[in-house]
This record gives sequence, C-alpha cells and structure tokens, in this order.
Amino acid sequence: MTVRGILATKGRDVVTISPNRTLADAALVLSERGLGALVVVGSPDEVIGILSERDIVRSVAARGPGALGETVRQNMTADVVTTVESATVQTVMAQMTDGRFRHVPVLDGGKLAGIVSIGDVVKYRLAEMESEQQALREYIATA
Ligand code: AMP
Repeated sequence: MTVRGILATKGRDVVTISPNRTLADAALVLSERGLGALVVVGSPDEVIGILSERDIVRSVAARGPGALGETVRQNMTADVVTTVESATVQTVMAQMTDGRFRHVPVLDGGKLAGIVSIGDVVKYRLAEMESEQQALREYIATA
C-alpha cells in the first residue's frame, strides 16, 4: 500500500496556518479541528514548517502562558520531513519512527497534496493485519 491509497480513503484536505499567526491562534485551530499538527505555509502556498501540539506545550512549559503570544514561525520546525504519494506506508512508518514525530505532509510537485498521521498508518496496518488473518483462515479451511 502506498501513501496514495491512504489519501484516497481519508481525503487530501490539510489544515494550514500562516507563520505570522500566534501560538494562541494555532492552539484554537488545533482544538476546534481535533488535530495534532498544522502545516505552516508561506506565500505562495509553500510549505515552510510544521507546528505540532508538542511545540506549543514545550514553549508554554519553558516560558509560561506568555509564549502563547509568540508567532508560529518562532516555534515551528522549519526542517520538515515530507513524503510523496508513491511512497510506501512502510517508508512513512520508518520516517515517523526515526524522526520521533507523528505527522508527515505529502507533496506533489512541491505543492502540499495531503498529510499522513500516525493514526492513519495504524488504521491501515490494522486493516492489513485483519485481511492477512482472514486469508490464513481461508487457506487453513480449504487446505
Ligand atoms: P508530532 O509528534 O508530530 O506531534 O511532532 C513532534 C515534534 O516533531 C514537533 O517538534 C514537531 O514540530 C516536529 N515534527 C512533526 N512532524 C514533523 C515532520 N514531518 N518533519 C519534521 N518535524 C516534524
């Protein structure tokens, strides 16, 4: 299975945020949309970073609630690890494990084309394991 297969099921919408917004704005969007990370886009629509709930928690823990007035740009990770639609799910799982993050934006010709989260990957793996089990059961029953 490829990243394309995951996006075909979950859709290609990505919630983004401008680097000039505040962490308080970002926290509100994350909370309202039930998300764990926002892709930071500059103009014109170029991925320039990623801001996760962990970045907000880390900044508030370090500098107190005043950190919520800081900009997204000051707190995002600028060196974003991305993938492409033709990549395998195994490759994305390895990226998440190696980098210790739970979100990987998908680019198509340099443009944002979707996002894969650890939840999407786990859902896919569970479905895959279930169909493997079913195939084994059928094999045993007909052997
Ligand atoms: P997460 O586990 O995705 O909530 O993110 C944990 C940390 O990794 C945060 O500091 C994020 O900014 C950073 N991060 C999340 N996703 C990525 C990514 N695809 N590439 C690089 N850093 C990331």
